[in-house]
Amino acid sequence: MLEKIVNSESECQILGEKIASQLKEGDIVILEGDLGAGKTTMVKGILKKLNYRYQVTSPTFTLINEYEADIKVIHIDCYRENDIKRWKQIGLDEYLFSNNIVVIEWGNLIKEILPDDIIVIKFENLEQGKRKIYSEYEYFSH
Ligand code: ADP
Ligand code: MG
Repeated sequence: MLEKIVNSESECQILGEKIASQLKEGDIVILEGDLGAGKTTMVKGILKKLNYRYQVTSPTFTLINEYEADIKVIHIDCYRENDIKRWKQIGLDEYLFSNNIVVIEWGNLIKEILPDDIIVIKFENLEQGKRKIYSEYEYFSH
């Protein structure tokens, strides 16, 4: 379980670092929430914790970014492409059934082609730059 209010971009990134320490090879994480809610920021924190030292950018246009971190991270964004046939063609399954950590922004848009045992993290915009970030995933601790 996870439920946290983050007050800034850096707090969001630090939460990503904490979450990364609880992830393992083969995990599939989907990030749900509005534009600007902090999904990509959290991925930056995850990659920092996994000792990726280079620039991390949003896959909004590239659709899939791959990062050779301590554990390889595949970062996907479904916002601009939510056609599940297209994702099948691109070869999403090869990423899903791998030993990588796969993080999918807007993964809720393609849920029907994702496995059941995925980790769902939700983001909500609150007032004054605050974000609520929460998950039912049982292995997350505060
Ligand atoms: P998403 O990937 O969900 O669209 P991004 O992580 O790309 O969102 O962008 C979040 C934006 O919101 C950044 O510009 C960041 O500086 C800003 N921001 C302001 N407050 C917060 C907060 N509490 N948590 C995360 N980001 C925040
Ligand atoms: Mg994003």
